[in-house]
Parts: sequence; structure tokens; C-alpha cells
Amino acid sequence: MAGEINPFASLQSQIDEAATYLDVDDDVIERLKHPERVLETNLTVELDDGSLERFKAFRAQFNGDRGPYKGGIRYHPQVSRDEVKALSGWMTYKTAIVDIPLGGGKGGIVVDPADYSETELERLTRTFATELTPIIGEDKDIPAPDVNTGQREMNWIKDTYETLENTTEPGVITGKNLASGGSEGRVEATGRSTVIAAREAFDYLDKDLEGATVAVQGYGNAGWIAAKLIDEMGATVVAASDSSGGIYNADGFDPVAAKTHKNETGSVVGYPEADEEITNEDVLTLDVDLLIPAALENAIDGGLAEDVEADVISEAANGPLTPEADRVLEDEDVFVIPDILANAGGVTVSYFEWVQNRQRFYWSEQKVNAELEETIVDAFDALVDAIEENELDNPRTGAYVVAIQRVANAFGEAGSFP
Ligand code: NAD
Repeated sequence: MAGEINPFASLQSQIDEAATYLDVDDDVIERLKHPERVLETNLTVELDDGSLERFKAFRAQFNGDRGPYKGGIRYHPQVSRDEVKALSGWMTYKTAIVDIPLGGGKGGIVVDPADYSETELERLTRTFATELTPIIGEDKDIPAPDVNTGQREMNWIKDTYETLENTTEPGVITGKNLASGGSEGRVEATGRSTVIAAREAFDYLDKDLEGATVAVQGYGNAGWIAAKLIDEMGATVVAASDSSGGIYNADGFDPVAAKTHKNETGSVVGYPEADEEITNEDVLTLDVDLLIPAALENAIDGGLAEDVEADVISEAANGPLTPEADRVLEDEDVFVIPDILANAGGVTVSYFEWVQNRQRFYWSEQKVNAELEETIVDAFDALVDAIEENELDNPRTGAYVVAIQRVANAFGEAGSFP
């Protein structure tokens, strides 16, 4: 069952699979399968009624061989030590495949924020920020938003850190809004890299993107932007879904108008231009040229993968395929652009935000998008080289081959201390 998959075990099996194609010592691979350190802490927070509550929280710093640890902070009841370790590992290989000079980290608090008031969440966040302050910093570890956190939480963390450290250091956190030192182009970055990678894959496979049919699962930040941009590239979006269900029109529909409908009604369902209602499962198994899963992890398991008819999948979401689904789709020659490359636009523009913060000099949206385009195209080219040199069937393995080699090279150059 998808729910029983241990994400840390999945990460380690992906590394083992890629390692068979690499000339890297086993003891170095062993290093690259484990986080350097994990902070596990118990936060005691006063609730509005005066009582105290304990919250478990984590920050995993997986690998810093290529630069400061980088990764989001998630608030969710299912946050666990293993989940945070896995997510920090994926960040390490995501920053490596796009070749930005950062490592990988991830944090989280075991909490359902919907159960707490804003003042309680502020005290919780500031208590966590106090625990994090000795180990974060623009040259150490740079958190960002993740599930159920956003600009508000990042501001609280930045303010707590800057107060305790008696400094101004906007680069300690990314994902900020423009007024607080955020970057142009950050909001669109994940959807943008998802479609740039898809365009490159179509080109590599000699497939025409003009008129290609596209289904998008999940119509949030990543999914709807991907739908809008792929439509601008000449493809036809025929299906989309959100947590309320899916919509379909064989002739395609306007993805921007579908988003307006979602903003007004809470869902894409009922959008008049695509009035054929289908299930979420139908969206994932439609006979389309490109499928963009942009909702949650483990959306496609081994059983559902048997019914997938798309030729190319560009993973906007993190971990949308179970390992079993990955094997099934490899057997069926579906070209899967792995999450660590397809959705790396988010962390890439976070890196640009950090660069701008450090330079105290801000770029135009045009410059951000041009730099992002070059970064993703270069990463895709490196992936193709790895696929061809190693005669790989699974692009995910190719991405890990490139990424692990880059981290191993950095470790090899620096050696270990003492
Ligand atoms: P979001 O909350 O904005 O959107 C998620 C969407 O998925 C919503 O429309 C929701 O209704 C839909 N959804 C939830 N369950 C669904 C289901 N069972 N079937 C269909 N749709 C469902 O989140 P987001 O920021 O767009 O993130 C989506 C995915 O992309 C996540 O896996 C996230 O980790 C990944 N990602 C996002 C970014 C980013 O910058 N936003 C960066 C990297 C990776």
C-alpha cells in the first residue's frame, strides 16, 4: 500500500540503484545515503487558554558538501523523523542535478495548523526558530516554505533569527514576498521548470509539443501554472483535477479561465468549458501525450500505473509515483521526468533570491526566467548524457547518477575532516 512506503527507504533504494552505474567507492555512497545530522526537539508552547502543549519538531541537514543546507519547513500531523530525513536527501540531489551551489535540508513540526489560532502558531514558530537559530544562517542552512507554511511563518522565523543574532540577514530564509526581499518569478518557478523539462523531453523524443494533449492532476500553485505555460507553448490542456474531482474536454479548454472558476467556486469542477466531470483516477489514466502530476506524493501506485496511457510524465509534485509504479512505467517505456529535475524551478529561483539578497541588488522577472530556462535546459542535457552513456531505461536513475556524482566529487575534492 502506498501509505506504508517509508520515504527514507525509498530514497536509499534510489541511491543504491544509481550507484550501480557510478564509479564511486561504497563507503562514499554509504555517506550519501544518510543525513549528516538531524535536530529533534520538543517545543513547549503556551496556548491561548494558558495551558502548555508539547510539539515534536525536526530539522535534517542531509549534506553540505556543495553548499549550505537548503529546504523547506512543513507543518503536518504526519511529519516524522524518516520523512524529514528523506525530504532532506531529495533536496540534496535536487540542488545537485540543477547544479546550484547548495546542499539539502528539510524541517517540520508535527502539527495540524488548522487546530491552532494565529497567535498560537506564531509562538510555536518563534519557539522553533529559537531552536533553529544556532544552526541556520545564509552560509549554514536556509529554510523555505513547504506544506502548510508560507510567507507569514518565514517572516516570523526571519524576525526571530535577526533579533537573536542582532543582524539583518534576509538570505537566511527564501520564499519571501517581494517587499521582504523575495524574488520576481518565484511563484511561477515550479510550474515553469515542469514545462521547460517537458518541452525538452518532447524534443529529445522527437515528439511535437504543438497540439499535444495534456492532463494536470492538482490545480494549485505548481499545477495551474504548468497548465497555463504549456498552453502558451502550443499544447492543449484537456483535463485537470483538484481534491474535489476532475474535468475534461477532448478539444481542450482555457487553463486561465479554469483557474478563475476555481478561485470563484473553490474547485475546477463545474467549469463550463470543460463540463465532462471525471474522477481523479481518470485524469491520471487518460490517453494523453503528457501527464503532469502536481498534487501529493504516491498519487500513482503500481496498480494504477498499469492503466497510465501518457507517453511522458513531468513530475511537478514530489514523489507522485511509488517505487512500484516507477518500475511499471519503465517497463511500458513511459518517459518520466523525475521530480528532482522537473520541479527544481522552485529551489532554483530560491537560490536566485538568496543571491539577490546577498548582493542587495534585485533582478527583473525577465532575467530570473532567462536564468531559470538555462539552468533547467543544462540539467536536462546532463540527464540525457547520463541516460545515453549508461544505456538507462529510467530517467530517474539518470538524474541520480548525475546528482550523486556531483555530490561525491565535491566530497572527494574536499576530503573529510579531521
Ligand atoms: P498547492 O496546495 O498549491 O496545490 C495542491 C493541489 O492539489 C490543490 O489544487 C489540491 O486541491 C490538489 N489535490 C490535493 N489532493 C488531490 C487529489 N487527491 N487529486 C487531485 N488533486 C488533489 O500545492 P503546490 O505548491 O502546487 O504543490 C503541489 C506539489 O508540488 C507538492 O507535491 C509539492 O511538494 C510540489 N512542489 C511544489 C513547489 C512549489 O514551489 N510550490 C516546489 C517543488 C515541489
